This record gives sequence, structure tokens and C-alpha cells, in this order.
Amino acid sequence: MSKPAAQEIILRGINASPGICIGKAYLVDKEGVDIVARYYIEEQNRQGEIKRFKAAVKRARDQIRSVIDGSPEELQRAYILETHLALLKDKMLYGKTIESIETDGINAEWALKQVVSNIKAVFLTMADFYLKERVSDIVHVSDSIMRNLVGVKAEKIADIDKRVILVARDLSPADTSQINLKKIMGFITDRGGKASHTGIVAQALEIPAVVGLNYATSRIKSDNLIIVDGNAGNVIVNPDEKSLVEYEERKINYQQYRAVITRESHLSAETTDGIQMQVMANIELPEEVVSVKNYGGDGIGLYRTEFQYMNRTIFPNEKELFEKYKDVVEVMAPKPVTIRTLDINGDKAVANQSGQDEANPALGLRSIRYCLRKPDVFITQLRAILRAAAFGNVRILFPMISAYFEICEAKKLLDQAAESLEKDGLPYNREIEIGIMIEVPSAVVLADFLADEVDFFSIGTNDLIQYALAIDRLNPHVAHLYQPLDPAVIRLVKQVADVAKNKGIQVFMCGEMAAVAHHVPLLLGLGLDELSMNPQSIPHIKRVIRSLSVSDAQTFMQKVLTKKTARGVFGVLKEAYGDMLDDRY
Ligand code: PEP
Ligand code: MG
Repeated sequence: MSKPAAQEIILRGINASPGICIGKAYLVDKEGVDIVARYYIEEQNRQGEIKRFKAAVKRARDQIRSVIDGSPEELQRAYILETHLALLKDKMLYGKTIESIETDGINAEWALKQVVSNIKAVFLTMADFYLKERVSDIVHVSDSIMRNLVGVKAEKIADIDKRVILVARDLSPADTSQINLKKIMGFITDRGGKASHTGIVAQALEIPAVVGLNYATSRIKSDNLIIVDGNAGNVIVNPDEKSLVEYEERKINYQQYRAVITRESHLSAETTDGIQMQVMANIELPEEVVSVKNYGGDGIGLYRTEFQYMNRTIFPNEKELFEKYKDVVEVMAPKPVTIRTLDINGDKAVANQSGQDEANPALGLRSIRYCLRKPDVFITQLRAILRAAAFGNVRILFPMISAYFEICEAKKLLDQAAESLEKDGLPYNREIEIGIMIEVPSAVVLADFLADEVDFFSIGTNDLIQYALAIDRLNPHVAHLYQPLDPAVIRLVKQVADVAKNKGIQVFMCGEMAAVAHHVPLLLGLGLDELSMNPQSIPHIKRVIRSLSVSDAQTFMQKVLTKKTARGVFGVLKEAYGDMLDDRY
């Protein structure tokens, strides 16, 4: 008799990167396995379940053995692992789990989880430090059994060698930047919210991604067939025939539409009333300049330089940075390349600078604050930027400015970098435009003072929304409150744009808000000079701009400004612009 087909289930999450992919799931365990399913085991199946548990223990034992065999010189580590081997068969863990499956009729994963939490409770009440410490050994051992039970692998993402879709509780930007595009079709995560950097990297890689699914890792097993719809933010597990046909068709339509808009992407983004908008690209890695060119970017509006500092223990030196920047600048010349200085920490902790001792990394030693604290790291980067500026059109952008003194200090260090290059007799260009990211509410409040110090503002809505509305951009539980159309956000953007106009400096937007079609009438109406986004979104946004008029958008803004809620703003947008602003792409 053939096995009944597994039931189709639909999981709803947050669309982090567009596109559709269909393929086999591959569970990646980044932090242990603590969300597991619970189900009842009929009496006649319990011996089979115990066998499954024993097999998982055996596999865990083999894996630990092979690690021990592979590291003979690391005696200390081998000793700990020998302890782990012994614990695998410990009566309290092994014996109790089997007993629980047998007498309570619960599945092995749940039985193991219960047993471990009981052991933890007992051990943690003990006064003896040594015994308390053994809890972490038990957790490690039970995690390795659990991984074998649920079929998740603890290996590195870079080592995955089949074509799969990653399913993980969470992936850090450092994890996603290891993705091998020949192998990974897309990814989905339990955690993650709007505008998380993990999603931003997926967009850069041009693979579909859905985040904030909450329970994907407990509902999906490795090798399950899944569909990831990165446009709508849905995941279909074990799709039936009808869904497969439907999504194959959607995938083809999507690809065809992309091909059409990509063909016209070299056309300029001129509105119907003749205003020329610049549509620029955000990049994370130098290799992305190819996409920027293919998708018709008018330049690079945001080069996030921190990714070059990730997945390594020693920071890059000046020569390495200079060469990478120079490559990008030369390929893009004479179009501008806006190099943003290091924006690490927050959700982009790097290997030798973890933010682990910070309770609130988003409010911590992040970005410009870190750079001003570490002038040696900062000057190395500033020198590299000034040297690259001799080869094309460079603008420098300082992130996360939250106080006036920060831009003054940053400029002072830029001058110092130029002086030191002068002394060293190296070619450089100090005559570059200087800008700041406006992404902290205090910078909006001080925009008039800050405008006197710079040539342009670039509004970073990913963080501005997070800090203004008090919504963690990584937290799926508050993702529904992360509203770019919130009247508070619109007022903040308006204030910045108005100050920039009064002061005669340019104003750009480089947050994700700029990449959404139905925001474009607002951004035109508010008077932004340039929009910058992930390269994939450029063709669609250019097409939208070509269909709009700035003077209509300005009149329309009057109505928007009377609305008190995001829903109200969306309502008038829909009324005025309707389906023209389709966001599927
Ligand atoms: C932003 O905050 O909007 C921004 C563009 O910067 P990042 O996403 O890198 O924090
Ligand atoms: Mg930011």
C-alpha cells in the first residue's frame, strides 16, 4: 500500500525578499533545537519510537566519536567529549526518555525535552558549582540527540552541497552572506522582522526569503517539499498537485514580468511632468555592481561596507578596502558611489567585536559611535575611501548620527585621514560630497544644524522607523506595527525634506521604504531628490515613477497629511493611485 500523501499546510510570515522557489527543505540548526512537536504514540508503535530514539543516540555517539578522533591533540576538548559520550547513555537521560516514551506514549522529541527540563530543574537547585556546570553538558548532549531525531544538521551553511531551501530558526547576516547561490534556492526563518539585515542580504543575493514564521522549524522536516513565496510572505509545506501547478505558473509569470521590466530598466526615471528622479542601488558586496548595471541603477546610493568585516577574525586592512572600493568606483564611474562608513553592531555584530555584552545592541556601541571610539579602525577605512575617490565619483556617508558633535568629529577624522595620505604621498581626493544618514529621531530634530555641516541627507527609514515608533526591526511579534505609512514617519520624512530644501542641500532615501511601489507618490510629493534600493527593485520603481507626476503628488500630499493612521494613509493612496501601484514585484 502506498503511503498517504502528507497534508499541505500554509505558513504565513513576512516577505523579506521577492521571488518564488520550489524545492526540498534543509533544516539548519544554529542554536540548538528547542521548539519541538508533541504527539501521541499508540501502544503498538512505542517500541518503534524507542528504536528511533536509540538510533538517534547512536548517530550522536558516532558524530562525537569522529570529532574526538579528529582532534587528538586537543586533550581538554577530547576529555569533555568523552564525558558527553558517557552522558549519552546516562540513566537519567537515556533511561528516563525511553521510560517516558513507553509509559506516557509521547514522541521521542517531546519525551527527551521533558526529561532534560526536569534534569535542569534538579541540577540548578544544587549548591555544588561542578554539578551545576554539568547542566550545559547535558544540554549539549541532548541537543545532538535532538538534531538527529528531527533531522537537522549542525554543519556550516557554506558546506551545504545540494540544491535546497534553508529552514532555520534564525540566520544572522553573517550566516546569509556565506550562502552559495548554486546550492541555496531561498530561505525561511522562524525569527526576523521587517527590514532585518538578513532579508536585505537575501535581496542582494536575489533569492526568495520569508522571515518571522515563528514555527517553521517545528512544522517542516528536512527533505519536505516546500514552496517559498517571497512576494506574499507565504510558505506552503507538502504542496498538493493543485498548489504545485499554481505556483509553477506564478513563478513563470513573475520571471516573465521581471524580464520585461529589466529590458526597459536603462530608461531614465522621468515623471510625466518632466522631473528627473535618480534611482540608485544599495549594495552590500562589491560583486553586486553587476546587478546595479543590469537593473539600470543611476549610481550607488548606499554601499554598506560592514559586510567586508564579517565572517573573519581580523578586520580588513587599508589596501584590501581600497582595492574593493576602487573596483566599485571605477566600474560605476562617472556615476556616483555613496560609500557608507562602517555600521557594525546592532544586528550586525562581527566576529571580533561581538555585541554580546550589550543588553540593547540597537541602542548600543553601534555604527559611528563604534568608529569614534576606535579611531584606528575608522581612519583605516577613511583613508581607503579617500584613495578610491581619486578613481571616480565618490560620496561619503556617515551612519547613525544622533548628535551634532558626531558629524564634527567624523569630519575632523576625515581631515586627519587626508593629511596622513598627503604626508605619505599617496593619491587621494578630499573634494567629495559628505552626507549623513538620518535614521535617529534626534537627527530629524537637529536637521537644520546638521545641514550646515553636510552636502546631503540620506534618510534611513529602516532604523528611523525602528527608533521613532519603538519597533525592533528584527522582532516578528511587533512586525505588524512597523508601518512606513504611519503619519509619524511621514511627518519625520517631511521635516527632513523641508529642512534640506530650505538649506539648499539634497535629500535622499535609502531605507526599504523607498523600494515599495505604493510609497512612491508620497516620496515624490515630499520632494526627495533620489531613491536608493536593492538593485532588483530598481526596474519596477523606475517604471512606477515614469507613470506619475510630481505636481499631482504634491497636491495629493495635502490629503495624506490630514490622515491620522497608517490605514488612513493607505486608503487615500489606494483611492488615488489604485492598482497602478502593484507591489507584487
Ligand atoms: C536604514 O536604516 O534605513 C538603512 C538604510 O541602513 P541599514 O538598513 O543598513 O541599517
Ligand atoms: Mg540603518
